[in-house]
Amino acid sequence: MSLFNLSGKVALVTGGNGGIGLGMAQGLANAGAAILVAGRNDEKNAAAVATLVESGSDAAAATADVTDETAVAAMVEAALSRWGRLNILVNNAGINIRKEPQELSLDEWRSVLDTNLTSAFLCSQAVYPYMAANGGGKIINIGSMMSIFGAAFAPAYASSKGGIVQLTKATATAWAKHNIQVNAVLPGWIDTDLTRRGRREVEGLHERALARTPAGRWGEPADMAGIAVFLSGPASDFVTGAAIPVDGGFSVQG
Ligand code: NDP
Repeated sequence: MSLFNLSGKVALVTGGNGGIGLGMAQGLANAGAAILVAGRNDEKNAAAVATLVESGSDAAAATADVTDETAVAAMVEAALSRWGRLNILVNNAGINIRKEPQELSLDEWRSVLDTNLTSAFLCSQAVYPYMAANGGGKIINIGSMMSIFGAAFAPAYASSKGGIVQLTKATATAWAKHNIQVNAVLPGWIDTDLTRRGRREVEGLHERALARTPAGRWGEPADMAGIAVFLSGPASDFVTGAAIPVDGGFSVQG
């Protein structure tokens, strides 16, 4: 299946040490890509690399805070110095601070926007010179159902995820001439550390998400592997600027 074969490709996955990032990293690795996992927590980074290597993949970790421009440059350099190439970037790192708009401080607002949106801009800008000079590449930005909908407890998060879709369209448009495809994935409700915390903080969230998801279940990180492989390989060479829900039907439920 050469359309989905990633042998010889190198993928950098921010926040690849757990949850959706690791689900995508595992999918990319199974399709043949080497993986650089990036996150702030070294223990989680090491555990993710061990998981990928145990399943027969070539993987390494970079300790990086994606809100820090210098750290982002070092992370990209780590991939290039280890493998000599970088073909796929997954901008997945993300956080949420669940408060209504009137309660959110400016620092909290900035922290969510910096982590979820500005980081994708910084990382994309950091890989651009290499991808443009080497025949192209694939960038996958992780949005959310909050790229489409709002929620009282997610003013900064929804703003960042709406912004991710527009950043995707702008970079896709600018960089198509370099054969760089940029797409967004909008996950539905996926069982991860992020949403476990959410379910503790927002009463009834688990049941509401379940009731509105036609597939009749919460998603697992492994549900994100297929879309990551599709958007990273030749199968998606004419797909760019799209925002694709992977949500068990949540966003089309009337
Ligand atoms: P997790 O909390 O499991 O993962 C978040 C990841 O982001 C961790 O690997 C964390 O690593 C990393 N991260 C956070 N801040 C930074 C930072 N400043 N620098 C580097 N890495 C950072 O959550 P999910 O897997 O659920 O979320 C992954 C993405 O998917 C996020 O963008 C989230 O918004 C999005 N999403 C999730 C949904 C869900 O239902 N779970 C639904 C829709 C979107 P570390 O702590 O080591 O830094």
